[in-house]
Amino acid sequence: MNYISTRGAGIGERHTFSDILLGGLAKDGGLYLPADYPRVSADELARWRTLSYADLAFEVLSKFSDDIPAEDLRALARRTYTADVYCNVRDGESAAQITPLKPLGVESGAPLSLLELSNGPTLAFKDMAMQLLGNLFEYALAKTGRTLNILGATSGDTGSAAEYAMRGKQGVRVFMLSPHKKMSAFQTAQMYSLQDPNIFNIAVEGVFDDCQDIVKAVSNDHAFKANYKIGTVNSINWARVVAQVVYYFKGYFAATKSNDERVSFTVPSGNFGNVCAGHIARMMGLPIEKLVVATNENDVLDEFFKSGVYRVRGSAETYHTSSPSMDISKASNFERFVFDLLGRDPARVLQLFRDVEEKGGFDLAASGDFARVREFGFVSGSSTHADRVGVIRDVYQRYHTMIDTHTADGLKVAREHLQAGVPMVVLETAQPLKFGETIREALAREPERPAAFAGLEALPQRFEVLPGDAGQVKAFIAANVRG
Ligand SMILES: *Cc1c(COP(=O)(O)O)cnc(C)c1O
Repeated sequence: MNYISTRGAGIGERHTFSDILLGGLAKDGGLYLPADYPRVSADELARWRTLSYADLAFEVLSKFSDDIPAEDLRALARRTYTADVYCNVRDGESAAQITPLKPLGVESGAPLSLLELSNGPTLAFKDMAMQLLGNLFEYALAKTGRTLNILGATSGDTGSAAEYAMRGKQGVRVFMLSPHKKMSAFQTAQMYSLQDPNIFNIAVEGVFDDCQDIVKAVSNDHAFKANYKIGTVNSINWARVVAQVVYYFKGYFAATKSNDERVSFTVPSGNFGNVCAGHIARMMGLPIEKLVVATNENDVLDEFFKSGVYRVRGSAETYHTSSPSMDISKASNFERFVFDLLGRDPARVLQLFRDVEEKGGFDLAASGDFARVREFGFVSGSSTHADRVGVIRDVYQRYHTMIDTHTADGLKVAREHLQAGVPMVVLETAQPLKFGETIREALAREPERPAAFAGLEALPQRFEVLPGDAGQVKAFIAANVRG
């Protein structure tokens, strides 16, 4: 399996899965994709139907990473997808399923269900990929004798998923910046209660943007970056995308009785990482009818899939919503889909994403390309805060199921795209406990709390408060990497 950049660099060169694992963007600023998508045969699909999650993950991953010995990869997948790690299931469910499918009911002739992706350690779907990444990093570093110091900024979700994935991993340290006293008590406790010696929580005196500026400043100090082996775990990482392909297969098998059926998926979207994995599953031959992109008030993607116009927003036009993990104004994985949409023409991709930088967007409506969006199965919709509150209430009353704001966004949009006889699977991307404020508003009660989270806020916390100054952050990293 060879990887190429969406902007054309490296065509004719060889990049294996391991080569791109620890890196971010390609040299030319593009994103890596396989030179060809592997196809899944009818025989394979039949065999995969009954596999455990871990063994299914091995089968899917091995199609993208033929440079890793099969026995190593299988052991890695089995170590990652265990009932112990994905233990935060609701009453009566089996943790061994990793991503249980919860049927809700039949609406407009379509069986409607939730695919639970949020039973991992941080109660959000990012655990699905990040946990694998932690084990892949440890494996790759041990092979080469290298170490890695991950530097990141978080306002909550991604940072905690990264910390829980990397805790205790050999050769990896995490330095995570978060805004001091600006996160919810739950989010703060989730991150700061980690006592692992390789996890460093840095509470920056400032806001989230200050944290991000520091990460940029440190990354732009190339000497420091090389000296201290600084890396990141952002959502464009290819291994994260490919790990997410697995649960589309799992969800498909759970929602159908035979491989002749087709299934639609609705995906609460921000950076387009999750639904990009669905696109890849479909390109591999999984019988997916529709891929429904659901956004909140930050509707860059909905606008594109309705009009062909991609117009990124500035920070003044990016709203803080009750589904904050989708408050994104520029979808970092979108370029991967555009590459396929344009028939894999890197010169045109380069031009379009130059237009994004220089003119704030591009318009594919006039060219014939936009019409092909439907051939790839894509449709879209968006929700408002009032929609999400209404859906949370409705689902609780009608189906006795408590859902979070992101999943509510998905369900609202899914209902606009139901087709009789075609199962609709909505990806559940977080548990309600993470977004308790809206649960209290919608249901006038506390969110459900998995047993492992009892008393979380009272645990001792370990963090370092630093001023919003890149120099002091560098000094802190230097002291802890040597020590
Ligand atoms: C990250 C996240 C999303 C958005 O996923 P993308 O891959 O960025 O599209 C949706 N819901 C939750 C809860 C998330 O944490």
